[in-house]
Amino acid sequence: MKPAARLLRWYRVHGRILPWRQTRDPYKILVSEIMLQQTQVERVKVFYRNWLKEFGSWKKLAAASNADVIIAWAGLGYNRRALALRDIARQVVEQGVPTTEEDWQSLKGIGPYTAAALSAFAQQKRTLPIDTNIRRVLGRYYFGKTFPDLKDDIRIRRKTESFLPKRGHYYDVPQAIFDLATMICTKAPDCARCPLKSDCKAASKFLSGNVKIPKRSTPKPNERKHRDKRYPDRIYRGRILKVVRVSVRVDSKKLGALIDPHFDAMLDYKWVENMIDRLVKDGMIKRTKNTLSL
Ligand code: SF4
Repeated sequence: MKPAARLLRWYRVHGRILPWRQTRDPYKILVSEIMLQQTQVERVKVFYRNWLKEFGSWKKLAAASNADVIIAWAGLGYNRRALALRDIARQVVEQGVPTTEEDWQSLKGIGPYTAAALSAFAQQKRTLPIDTNIRRVLGRYYFGKTFPDLKDDIRIRRKTESFLPKRGHYYDVPQAIFDLATMICTKAPDCARCPLKSDCKAASKFLSGNVKIPKRSTPKPNERKHRDKRYPDRIYRGRILKVVRVSVRVDSKKLGALIDPHFDAMLDYKWVENMIDRLVKDGMIKRTKNTLSL
């Protein structure tokens, strides 16, 4: 039996039931894909449902203001994703729903991974959206590389044609790989339970017990942090948005104390000002003298 057939058989029994797997609607799939960037599946499930209640279509989302989407996105983090999603909806309303991977990618805000995901999951095209999961599984399976990296994507892409079945549920293959990567082919894989173990080039290495598992297989993103602050700036920017959501008249000095219990007016004032400037520049908030609003 071919590897993808074994994988799909495993997936039918062990695959996760996720709301965005029950639809072929490109809008809903795009919402899930954008939310899943940098956020875990369990958290996304709740936000995904609520978002669709509020913005159920391209049109509804396209008509939303910055404040509408930032409020609805509250709690998911990386708020720029909310504005990017709304901007994509505006392009779709204007130009129509793309039907090819290339056309998806021509929209501002959609990269190669998301374009391939939309083609595969919404439009049932034979393509593999290569993310960290697919890279890990196929990089190990085909090339025996224990911890594949971005440089392997080109040769992994070349294998797409032979890995994906020509007929049947080939569009389920990427989802099946995601689940295999989450449940079995993890950083320290459980090859003994894997449906690909009979011909995976990395299986014998892992099964020998001689592979050293690194603490982190991908480098930590280089996030900006101000002096001895506990969290990266991203967390404090999220807190500023939270304050601005409920209080439209906020002095940036008071704001410092609200977002950080250790705020020091001398050492941190400029830091808060810079974060506000960045939020203004990103279109997240508006500033008039000492008033901030969404
Ligand atoms: S056999 Fe092991 S390394 Fe290969 S795909 Fe399966 S879990 Fe990953």
